[in-house]
Amino acid sequence: MTFHDGLADTAPPTTTVVETDVLIVGSGPAGASAALFLSTLGVSNIMITKYRWTANTPRAHITNQRTMEIFRDLGIEEEVLADATPHHMIGDTVFCTAIAGEEIGRILTWGNHPARHADYELASPSLNCDIPQTYLEPIFVRNATMRGTQTQFSTEYLGHKQDDEGVDVRVLNRLTGSEYTIRAKYLIGADGARSRVAADLGLPYEGQMDIAGSMNITFKAELGQLCGHRPSVLYWVIQPGANVGGIGAGLVRMVRPWNEWLIVWGFDLEQGVPEVTEDDALRIVRNLVGDPGLDVEITGISLWGNNEQYATSLHRSRVFCAGDAVHKHPPSNGLGSNTSIQDSYNLAWKVAVVLNGHAGPGLLDTYTTERAPVARQIVLRANKSAREFGGLFEALGLDMAETADQLAARIEERKDNSPAGAAKRAAVREAMELKNYEFNAHGVEMGQRYESTAVVSDGTARPEPTRDPELYYEQSTYPGVRLPHAWVGDNERKYSTHDLAPYGRFTVITGITGEAWVAAAKNAADRLGVPVETVVIGPGRAVTDLYFDWAGLCGVAKDGSVLVRPDKHVGWRCHNLSADPEAELMTALTRILDRGEAT
Ligand SMILES: Cc1cc2nc3c(=O)[nH]c(=O)nc-3n(C[C@H](O)[C@H](O)[C@H](O)COP(=O)(O)OP(=O)(O)OC[C@H]3O[C@@H](n4cnc5c(N)ncnc54)[C@H](O)[C@@H]3O)c2cc1C
Repeated sequence: MTFHDGLADTAPPTTTVVETDVLIVGSGPAGASAALFLSTLGVSNIMITKYRWTANTPRAHITNQRTMEIFRDLGIEEEVLADATPHHMIGDTVFCTAIAGEEIGRILTWGNHPARHADYELASPSLNCDIPQTYLEPIFVRNATMRGTQTQFSTEYLGHKQDDEGVDVRVLNRLTGSEYTIRAKYLIGADGARSRVAADLGLPYEGQMDIAGSMNITFKAELGQLCGHRPSVLYWVIQPGANVGGIGAGLVRMVRPWNEWLIVWGFDLEQGVPEVTEDDALRIVRNLVGDPGLDVEITGISLWGNNEQYATSLHRSRVFCAGDAVHKHPPSNGLGSNTSIQDSYNLAWKVAVVLNGHAGPGLLDTYTTERAPVARQIVLRANKSAREFGGLFEALGLDMAETADQLAARIEERKDNSPAGAAKRAAVREAMELKNYEFNAHGVEMGQRYESTAVVSDGTARPEPTRDPELYYEQSTYPGVRLPHAWVGDNERKYSTHDLAPYGRFTVITGITGEAWVAAAKNAADRLGVPVETVVIGPGRAVTDLYFDWAGLCGVAKDGSVLVRPDKHVGWRCHNLSADPEAELMTALTRILDRGEAT
């Protein structure tokens, strides 16, 4: 037996072997959520993580609607909201020369513009919010551990070897210095952008690492006076140097309103990695805030590389990678943690049904088929968004200015009552408009559609989007897309259609004239041994289409049906009640579950 990291020849023999169904490496958003999903589904799992606790810097924060509705599904949405800055306080995004300096403009972001708010309200039972990673990870770890995860801190992944039945993973207890082996049926490498699991697996990647340099400076300072009237998570600062490295421009990000902050400031990687002292950090903070005497406590400084790289395959046999391990990109669009959690949501139910014998192993291959295109999409989108700051720099003349005075003069030009001033104002407005692709990209966040053997075609052509698919999300039940949200219920209760189809089971949704689907689904479930629930929507039935929204969204006739997968993506739909609905459902379910031909 040789371990992939090549340490096997020199490592001392290990005698202790611990067994579990799934071993997860990493307790970040990808790993800790995977642990929570698996424990919720009753799958035995161990989560190991290298350090003594969870994230110590508040990197991820914008938590989009797709992720919030996953939290709702898992019963942790209220806990997250209790620690979060709410939706209405995150979106008055400011572009300025310093927080106390000249304001260039604002855009209402994350669905906060009244013209966009309806899109967000209509799309999901949950609104987006801002929760720093330092607050979110403990919620995952606490709930995962309470539901069954064995969490091992200060435990480092060293290497693995897989065979036909499982994976032997060598780990190091960093407190005792002892090594031992964990034998798992499956391994999930959620060990971040420099993933050792992915390297050991030899996953194929496209793109490049370390294309630009960024530094994070965390600090405490009271900025309520400057920010409270224009509440946002993001204050973008255009100063000389703001277009060097980094994530598009200088960023002062609210961590807690209005006294905890994180600055992202770029540096030129070609000049080497700088040493940033506390004095340097203080100077940067005061410059970006625009107050040379500001009372500041610097709480942390760290340097990191911006990446533009994605894996084209996310697994090999029994070993899967999720999160930043397979998509590496700048934080633009706030997609990293969100996508990491959504990777694990896609993977965990598949692992659960394969482990309990309800699905064939081919279902696991659809993790790559479905999530690798998402990895590519978000890496390219985030990098494009960072580059699109270029338009604003050009419009303002930052690319031509070397000093603060020169820049100030160029920014002043937009005030001129002259053709040049008017042209500059128009260019600034156009450049700001483009930033909607970073801050209001609802289609990117919600519109992921899967094409794989775990999605069965209904024989129709996919409808063309009627609006820009990156900015706008259009609900539909076309196979492979996320289940549309509509409010349903009765005189006592109000549910989202998402609440009708909880994680861990398939759900068939139909209408009153389609009630024959109920018996068909029960028979198919009995024959396959898989839980399939049914919901009839209509007056006097389980729930009523309270606002008649579902009727417009369901995409099938009243006697048709929509088969929803456990991850709330549409697995198949049938437009009308067919002659043999049980046979139709059997065919769809056996294909999704890789169970061979329906019998
Ligand atoms: C400034 C900044 C702002 C951001 N803002 C957002 C945002 O608003 N929204 C968003 O969605 N994303 C955002 N992101 C991105 C987000 O932080 C990452 O995408 C996310 O943390 C990735 O999660 P992960 O679980 O894949 O990896 P990580 O969070 O990197 O976690 C990796 C885990 O693996 C563990 N580990 C590593 N090696 C080993 C080993 N050998 N053995 C055991 N354990 C190991 C680590 O201890 C850690 O627990 C931001 C990032 C930055 C830098």
